[in-house]
Formats: sequence, structure tokens, C-alpha cells
Amino acid sequence: MASNLSDRLSRLVKTMRGQARITETNVADMMREVRMALLEADVALPVVRDFIARVKEKALGQEVVGSLNPGQVLVSIVHKELARTMGEGQQELHFPANPPMVILMAGLQGAGKTTTTAKLTRWLIEKKKKKVLTVSTDVYRPAAMDQLRTVTAQAGGECFPARPDQKPVDIALAALDQCRRQYFDVLIVDTAGRLAIDEALMAEIRDLHAAVRPTETLFVVDAMQGQDAMNTARAFKDVLPLTGIVLTKLDGDSRGGAALSVQQVTQTPIKFAGVSEKIDGLEAFDPDRHAGRVLGMGDIVSLVESVQQNVDVAAAQKLAAKVKSGESFDLNDFLSQLGQMKNMGGLSSLMDKLPAQLASKAGNLDMDKAERDVRRMEAVILSMTPLERTKPDLIKASRKRRIAAGAGVHVQEVNKLLKQFEQMRDMMKKMKGGGMMKMLKRMGG
Ligand code: GDP
Repeated sequence: MASNLSDRLSRLVKTMRGQARITETNVADMMREVRMALLEADVALPVVRDFIARVKEKALGQEVVGSLNPGQVLVSIVHKELARTMGEGQQELHFPANPPMVILMAGLQGAGKTTTTAKLTRWLIEKKKKKVLTVSTDVYRPAAMDQLRTVTAQAGGECFPARPDQKPVDIALAALDQCRRQYFDVLIVDTAGRLAIDEALMAEIRDLHAAVRPTETLFVVDAMQGQDAMNTARAFKDVLPLTGIVLTKLDGDSRGGAALSVQQVTQTPIKFAGVSEKIDGLEAFDPDRHAGRVLGMGDIVSLVESVQQNVDVAAAQKLAAKVKSGESFDLNDFLSQLGQMKNMGGLSSLMDKLPAQLASKAGNLDMDKAERDVRRMEAVILSMTPLERTKPDLIKASRKRRIAAGAGVHVQEVNKLLKQFEQMRDMMKKMKGGGMMKMLKRMGG
């Protein structure tokens, strides 16, 4: 993808500065970009059409307030509507008053049912303190039964010993019986999948549903399936009263547009996201964050908001003016920049908000370490005298030793800080003021 939606919109917006509201004319161009972005994210076409119509209605006539421009306002409307379409907040599993709770797993072969069964087992044991039994009714693939046994053991649950010569419904009922007799809280029924929808498979899962009467019927779907996900979802929705969706393989390259299509077709909340092959790779699905991913721009809206709220604008402007007028950037300014970084919720929360491409580049950084480094840098500057902070060139060997002792670090740390300060000063000169504010503003479109 050449550039993200936010970039494209801001480019468009440059041509319509001074327009104080969103109108039919300026919205048309912007909507074309939104549409492209959604199609690139693999959202199915009919879903895109519906969505665009809704956003347009919401956007038309919106006043553009304060320092925002029409493009920013539209990004925010699109983002909010996208999140709303994918669900209102995070959706939990429904636990019945009387255990056992039965969870039926449905989906195509390879979607990630068995893996998700194990992840859910782990999640239920650790987070909800439940005693969990799993069972595989996949009598066609003995290997699938073995796989479930192995991963259930890894998750710390128990697996019902099913045999491939039994009928799926009989297996499920026997497991439910053991569940009741041995006071398990939850039974997860993993089912057979096929590579494509077929009648026999659908009849079988319908019978299983009627027999065990699950509290939760989860449809497991691979996010990489893109547009096909919609048809698969429809087929399952037609035979089963789904109560939730698990979107797997979100750790892949896909932008996860399938979430939107599947949700639209099934009108069922997405409850979990699979984010790795590992047993702990299951997260509560967060519509807000996912909306940013679909648009290819991270949680840009909240990034823009947090910049606007938390950066000390007056201080940043003073700094910008100083650099512009040729005054030197000193350690006090450096300290104030470090402080601004912390105000925005720390480095790791900033990372969470970055667009996916940027964040994955920076993903190898150890954020905890980076935050510790920032704190140490502050400590070093704070143990300097006011004179040293305005005239860093004064800081020679003996002053360095005193500063290091005051901050409780080695002299090398002081050298490192001075070096970083110099680099920052050079960068500030190149950017002619604004610094981080300017950089973030540019990103926020
Ligand atoms: P099933 O046929 O529906 O039971 O699918 P499996 O659970 O056997 O999963 C199929 C493949 O997808 C396996 O190789 C899993 O390791 C992999 N898989 C499942 N969920 C995820 C996920 O969230 N992320 C990644 N990267 N791989 C996954």
C-alpha cells in the first residue's frame, strides 16, 4: 500500500483549506479514498457500499471545529463509525448461572478451531478460574483428536478421550456427562471442519448444537480469508445461532477487513482475536483499535487527541520560536521534550497508537527499557546546575563526575546523554523548530 488513508486525506485536504464544513463536493473525493482503503483491507464490496453511505450521512454538514480541518474530522467520523460497526466496546463471553457452560466451536478446516480451543482453555483457567474439559468430535481425522489432546494438556485443561469409531453427537454427549459428574465449569466442543462448506458438515454441526445446547456458539474465522470470509460466515449463520466470532491470524499481514464483513453478515459480536500460534495468543477483540488497523493508520485519532491534550502547546511554541530565532537549544529544552514524551502516556502507549507499518519497524525495541532510559536521562539533567543546563559546553570531566554521582549513574551515562542532546540539537536545527510536535502533527494529518 502506497500510503495510509490519513496521508491521502490530508493531501486532498490541502486543496480545500478554509472550508469550514464538510459538503457534497469535498466529501465525494474523500469518500473515494475511504472506499479504496476499505477495499484494500479486503472488506467485501456490499459492506463497503453500506458503510460509505452511512458515513456520508453522518459527515455531511458537520461543522469543522477549532484547529481541525475537514479531512481530520472525516477521519475521525470514519474511524468511529467503523468501530461502532464492529461492535460497541469489548464483548465478553456469557457465563450461565448454572454450570457447566458449553462452548461449541464452528468453522472451516484450518480456521484455527483447535488452536483457539486450547487458547480459550488457557484463558478460562487463568483469567476466570474455571475447570475446563475439551472434546474433539472430529471422527474423520484422528490426528485432529490427538492435536486437541496435546494442546489441551499444554493449556492445563483436560481432554475427553474420544474414539474415532463413535458418532460425533454420542461423543459430545458423553463428554457433557463426564463434565457434569466431575464438576467441570466449562466444556468446549471442537468440531470437524471441511475445506469448503458442505451439506453433511452443516447437518452434523446442527445436530451437535441441538444435542449439547451450548451457551456460546463461536464461529472461528481466519482473518486472511479476506472477502471469502463473508460467504463462509453466511453459510454458518444460516444453520447455527451464533453468539460470537473469533477472528484468528490477526498477526499476519492482513488488514483485517474480514472483521467488518463477517460482523455485518452475522450481526454477531467479535469476541476474540487470535494474534499468534502460541497458546497465549488470544485477546479480547477491541473494535476501536481494529478500526485503525483496517484503515491502515493505527489509532491515529486518539494519537491526534492525545497530542492536542497533553503537549504543553505554549512550551512547544516557545521552543520553536527560540530555534527559529537562532537561539541555542539547551538542556532545559531537552528536558522539557522528555517530559512531553512522558505526558503522552509513555513510549509504549505511543507505540500502540502508531500505524501498523511504523510500529512493526519499531516493534523490536524494548519499550520498558526505553522508558527506563528516558527516566535516567531526566535524572542526569536534573542533577546539573542551571548554568550547566543552559551552557552544556561547560560540562567537562569533573562536572561530569559530580553529575553522575548526583544522578546515581556511571560517567558514561552522562556522556551518552550529552551526545543524545547534541544529536537532538542538530535535528532541531534541521527541522527549524517544532520538533516532536511537528513530527506528530504531520503524522496525524
Ligand atoms: P482447525 O482446523 O480449525 O482446528 O485449525 P487449527 O487450529 O489446526 O489451525 C490451523 C493452523 O493455523 C495451525 O497451523 C495453527 O497454528 C494456525 N493458527 C491458528 N490460529 C492462529 C493465529 O491466531 N495466528 C497464527 N499465526 N496462526 C494461527
